[in-house]
Amino acid sequence: MNPSDPPSDSTHLDTLAQLRLALREQQVILDTAGVGIVFIQQRRIIRCNQRYAEIYGYANATEMLGNTTASLYPNDAASRALGEAAYPTMARGQSYKSEVRMKRRDQTGFWAHLTGKLVNPGDTGEGSIWIVDDITEQKSARAQLEEVLIEQSLILDNAMVGIVFLRQRMATRCNQAFETLLGYQPGELRGCSSRKWYLNEQDWLEAASLWQVPFSKGLGFEGEMRLCQKDGTAIDCDVRARAIDPKNPGEGSIWITMDISARKRAENALLQARADLEKLVESRTLELKRTVMALERKAIEQKESEAMIQRLAHFDPLTGLPNRLLLNDRSEHALNIARRNQQCLALMFLDLDHFKNINDSLGHRVGDQVLVGLATRLKSAVREQDTVARLGGDEFIVLLPDTDAEGAARVAKKLLQTTLRPFQIEQNELTVTPSIGIALYPQDGTDLDTLSRSADAAMYHAKEEGRNNYRFFTCEIQAQSDRTLVLDNALRRALERDQLQLHFQPQISLRTGQIVGAEALLRWNHPQLGSVSPAEFIPVAESNGLILPIGEWVLRTALKQLGEWIARGMAPITLAVNLSALQFRHANLPQLVSSILLDAALAPGVLELELTEGVAMTHPLSAIATMDDLHRRGVRMSIDDFGTGYSSLSYLKRFQVYKLKIDQSFVRDITDDPDDKAIVGAIISMASSLGLKTIAEGVETAGQLAFLRARGCDEVQGYFFSRPLPADAFEKFTLQHRPELIQIQLS
Ligand code: C2E
Ligand code: MG
Ligand code: MG
Repeated sequence: MNPSDPPSDSTHLDTLAQLRLALREQQVILDTAGVGIVFIQQRRIIRCNQRYAEIYGYANATEMLGNTTASLYPNDAASRALGEAAYPTMARGQSYKSEVRMKRRDQTGFWAHLTGKLVNPGDTGEGSIWIVDDITEQKSARAQLEEVLIEQSLILDNAMVGIVFLRQRMATRCNQAFETLLGYQPGELRGCSSRKWYLNEQDWLEAASLWQVPFSKGLGFEGEMRLCQKDGTAIDCDVRARAIDPKNPGEGSIWITMDISARKRAENALLQARADLEKLVESRTLELKRTVMALERKAIEQKESEAMIQRLAHFDPLTGLPNRLLLNDRSEHALNIARRNQQCLALMFLDLDHFKNINDSLGHRVGDQVLVGLATRLKSAVREQDTVARLGGDEFIVLLPDTDAEGAARVAKKLLQTTLRPFQIEQNELTVTPSIGIALYPQDGTDLDTLSRSADAAMYHAKEEGRNNYRFFTCEIQAQSDRTLVLDNALRRALERDQLQLHFQPQISLRTGQIVGAEALLRWNHPQLGSVSPAEFIPVAESNGLILPIGEWVLRTALKQLGEWIARGMAPITLAVNLSALQFRHANLPQLVSSILLDAALAPGVLELELTEGVAMTHPLSAIATMDDLHRRGVRMSIDDFGTGYSSLSYLKRFQVYKLKIDQSFVRDITDDPDDKAIVGAIISMASSLGLKTIAEGVETAGQLAFLRARGCDEVQGYFFSRPLPADAFEKFTLQHRPELIQIQLS
């Protein structure tokens, strides 16, 4: 209540008493008010309450009554300034409010909040009432707050990190760095939802679940988040957040955000670099591994090819057996040991009998398979320390260290035995037989060369003695092989030194008893060696090739001789000339024959070429061609020594052969041996059924003659009539010949 208000209208109460009561009530109100209240008149304190006194440092209100207000201000000027500032407002009837510096009784200053009003604005003399509050504490608190806020914004504005205050996920405040970080202008984000800097709705919703739990526990959130800049660019941020008041999450949170995109990029680049490096290392390692592997492979290949070269150099590619080179090494080694330990050693030369036939008739493929099969058998028949080597073709050498004659014979038998079983190659069942020659160390040779030559010579003997056999080297063989060497040398000069001669053996018809032909047989008379049999030197001439010039000489000489005989009036006869295989296979043969006939001015029909079965059968197709050619030229052909070789009837039919010459080995026992009788009889009837003539050679007795004639043989040749004779003796023989005598002998 305003003390200046007129007393209430009361009819029953004493007005004064009422006033006193009102004043007391007023005093109570004044005393209990929390603020200082003062009534001022003429710049002096008329009344004030207890609080007012306390504010100014007085024990009670009474002490202040009558004091001038100027004493309450720091100085007069301040007091006057307030009055000048306040009275215009108050004069308008309004309250004047101000915060001013005032002074306590002890002269200390303080801040006071004043609210003043005139009791009667129309009359300033009636005084004014002021409400005073000590706001020193408030003021300093506010000042402190301001300081804090200034500091805070200083921090905010100068921080290198983005800081944002969120409440209900709305930005209440943020620093410039935060806005810059997200690509916004200063102030643009204030009041915005945090959704703005998330890439999408889901990210934003999920983010909440990240910090809600730690916040509820009074903890902070720290982590990396992918945020979105204004232009949509994603940036990686390191985010730390904390509730402003953990007990009251509604107060909001403060977020410190740092762009770590660059760091992230660097990290990623580093990771990438590391991954690249690892990859590089990995690929280098792989490359290295590959290189190492390639190197290893190369080394293996190298080793393999070296081994291959070694194998090729030392082993026979077909059979896998050691070759001559390896045999050299092995035998040298074995001979050294034998020498040192005074041991024996055996060396075998093994050659297959008629192996050529297999090659020629069934082809080299079959022949090769036989050799491979044979190699295996030979190897398994000998001991570990023995060596079976292949020299080429069908020639093998078996080296048996520490073996004497007895042991070698045992091995030879075993080898013969092992070849007995036929080889099944494709549809062919083939049997091969070897001939084996054995030489012994030291008696037959002390080096490989001599030993193998000795064994070779012994092998030839085994062949001569019927093949499929073994034979030791002997003194006789030694002598023979020495002789072969001598003959070889001497034969080379035989033609030029005129040591060759031809003898002629008559051939007589069993029908007429007349001389129908002659066989030219070669003779060699050497001044030192004497007369050498063609059976001995023809094989030597065949082996050294001299048979070609010698054979040509025979043809030329024989035909020349016939020409001379005819010129001298001899009844016409045919001339049989032996041809060796080498001559027959010479491509030039038919032309040569024709030209020699031409030179001798003789009809081709006078010439009969004797071929052995082997010559014709070895290469049947080319033999057929050559025979056809010769046949076309009018030359006749006969098969010499028929029955000793392997003639195939089917080929025989296709050969342009005129005559079969029954070998003398069948004729020899023809009178006693029923087998020979049968064979000769069979040859004659087969020949006649094929339209071929027959001639028997080696006829020495009348009995043989009678048998042959009885069987229908066409012609005969042999000592019974005449030995081969020199030309002039032959001529004489023909002149003396009496066909009728033969007829008489036979009848
Ligand atoms: P070949 O062609 O079978 O000649 C027959 C051989 O038997 C001749 O021996 C001959 O003297 C001999 N002979 C004839 N009648 C009888 C007989 O009643 N009893 C006996 N025991 N032997 C008789 P030769 O003259 O020593 O000739 C031996 C082989 O030498 C010939 O066998 C022939 O294969 C070959 N030959 C001879 N001259 C030549 C030639 O000019 N060229 C060729 N390539 N080989 C020839
Ligand atoms: Mg002959
Ligand atoms: Mg003969």
